[in-house]
Amino acid sequence: MVTMDTLVSLCKRRGFVFQSSEIYGGTGSCWDYGPLGVELKNKIKRAWWRDFVQRRPDMVGLDASILMHSMVWKASGHVDHFADPMVDCRECRHRFRADQLAETPWVHYCPATKGNKFTIPPGEACTHCGASRTLCPDCGKGELTPPRQFNLMFKTFMGPVEEDASVTYLRPETAQGIFVNFDNVLQSMRRKLPFGIGQIGKAFRNEITPGNFIFRTREFEQMEIEYFVNPHETVEGRPADEYWHDRWIEDSLAWFRRYGIQPDNLRLHEHDRDELAHYAKRTADVQYRFPIGWSELMGIANRTDFDLKQHAKFSGKALTYFDEERKEHVVPYVIEPSAGVDRALLAFLADAYREEEVRGEKRVVLRFHPELAPLSVAVLPLLKKRDDIVRTAHAIRDDLARHLTAVYDDTAAIGRLYRRQDEVGTPYCVTVDVQTVGDTDKGEAADGKVTIRDRDSMEQIRVEGSRLGQVIGDLLGGASWAEVTAAVGRS
Ligand code: ATP
Repeated sequence: MVTMDTLVSLCKRRGFVFQSSEIYGGTGSCWDYGPLGVELKNKIKRAWWRDFVQRRPDMVGLDASILMHSMVWKASGHVDHFADPMVDCRECRHRFRADQLAETPWVHYCPATKGNKFTIPPGEACTHCGASRTLCPDCGKGELTPPRQFNLMFKTFMGPVEEDASVTYLRPETAQGIFVNFDNVLQSMRRKLPFGIGQIGKAFRNEITPGNFIFRTREFEQMEIEYFVNPHETVEGRPADEYWHDRWIEDSLAWFRRYGIQPDNLRLHEHDRDELAHYAKRTADVQYRFPIGWSELMGIANRTDFDLKQHAKFSGKALTYFDEERKEHVVPYVIEPSAGVDRALLAFLADAYREEEVRGEKRVVLRFHPELAPLSVAVLPLLKKRDDIVRTAHAIRDDLARHLTAVYDDTAAIGRLYRRQDEVGTPYCVTVDVQTVGDTDKGEAADGKVTIRDRDSMEQIRVEGSRLGQVIGDLLGGASWAEVTAAVGRS
C-alpha cells in the first residue's frame, strides 16, 4: 500500500494538490487543487452526478446556497449538538479529539526499561511495564485537560453589523439545503415518493484535528443525496425505508467498484447503538483502506423523519407528502448517502497507485479508470525538430480537445514523455512520427497513421488518423484494449 507521504509528494510534484497559501507558510487544514487535481475532481463529480442524478428517473438535482438562515442550524440541531469533545495537553499544548484518543498511537517513556521511549499502537498497553495510556499521546509527558465540547461550525455575520441578530454559519453539510427545499422540489417537479435530491457542494467544519492530507480538512466538498420514501409503504415485504437503505448501500459500493476501486479495499461498517445519532434508525459507513488504515469514505444513514419534522416545527410550514392511495399526509423518511469528494479523490488516487518494474527500471503508474483520469489523451511528437510532425500533433490535440482532456507535450524524449503520462494516469498516448507525415527527402509517402499506446499494457497499435477520434472514444467509453486492437486489425 502506498504511503501518504508518497501521495502528497506526487500530488505536489505533478500538479494535483498544493498546500493552501503555501508561500505564507501554508495551512495544514486546507488544500488547493492544481491543474490535474481539478480535472480529476471534476471528473469524479461529473461521474457521480451523471450516475446518481441524471441517469436515474427517481432523482433530481439541486444547488443550494452555502449561507442559510440561522434558524436552519437551530432546527437541524447543529447549533446545540454539532460539537466534538476536545482535550489539550498541558505540556506541549497539542490538541486532540477525546473520542479519537483510542485510535491514536501513543508515546511512552517506559519505567521498566530505564525510561526508554516507545511508540505504542492505538489502544494497546506497553508490553514491558503493562501500562496503558493516560498522558498526552504525542509528547508522552503532559497531563490532558478534561474534555470540553467544541462546536465545529464556522460562525460569520450577514451584512455589515457584527451583532447577534446577524450571526449565521458556513454550512457544515449540504444536506440541510435539500431538506429546506423539499417542498419546492416536490411541488415544482411534481414528484411521487420515492424520489431523491442530489447535491454537490462545499461544506465547512472547524475540525479540532484536521490532517492526513485531504482526508480531514476544514473546507471540503460533499456529494449528498436525500432519498425520500413513504414509511407506510412496503417493498418486497419490507418497510420501504429499510429496503431503500439496503439498495443505497449496494449502489454506493457498486459505484466505487465501477470506477476501479479494488473490492478488497472497501468494506462496510455498521454503526453500533452507541455510535448512532439519536435520530438515526440505522447507519452504515463505506470504509476504504486508506494509507492511514480503514477509515470512513462515506456514510449512508436512515435519518427517519427527523429533519423534515424539525424544519416543519421551526418554520411553521408543513413539510409533508400527500399519499393519494391512502388519502393521508405523511412525513417521508429519508435515506442519506453522503460522500466526501476529497476523500473519494484520495481513495481513487491511493487505489490507482502502482510501482512496477519495466525492463529493470521503476515505473510509477496511476491506473485510474479511463473516465476519471485527469488527462484522457496526451499527443506526443516523436521528433520536435520536424515542423510537419509538430503541426500534425497540435492539430490532433486540438481536435481531440473538443470532447476530451487532451494535452500536447514535446518537452522530452518519447520514453520520458510516456513515463510522465503514466505517473499522472493518462490512459492513452498518441504519437505522431515520420511515417505519419512522410519524408519527401527519402521519397517516403505519408501513411496518415498514428500510434496509440495503452498505459496499462504499454502495447501500441497504429490507426488511421481519421479514425483516431472514434477509436479513442471507444476506449474511453469502456471498450477493452483487446477489443479495439482486434477491430483495428480487421479494418
Ligand atoms: P468523520 O467521522 O470522519 O468526522 P463524519 O461521520 O462526521 O466524518 P459525515 O458528517 O457523515 O462525516 O459527512 C459525510 C462525508 O463527508 C464523510 O463520509 C466524508 O467523506 C466527508 N467529510 C466529513 N468531514 C470531512 C472533513 N473534515 N474533511 C473531508 N471530508 C469530510
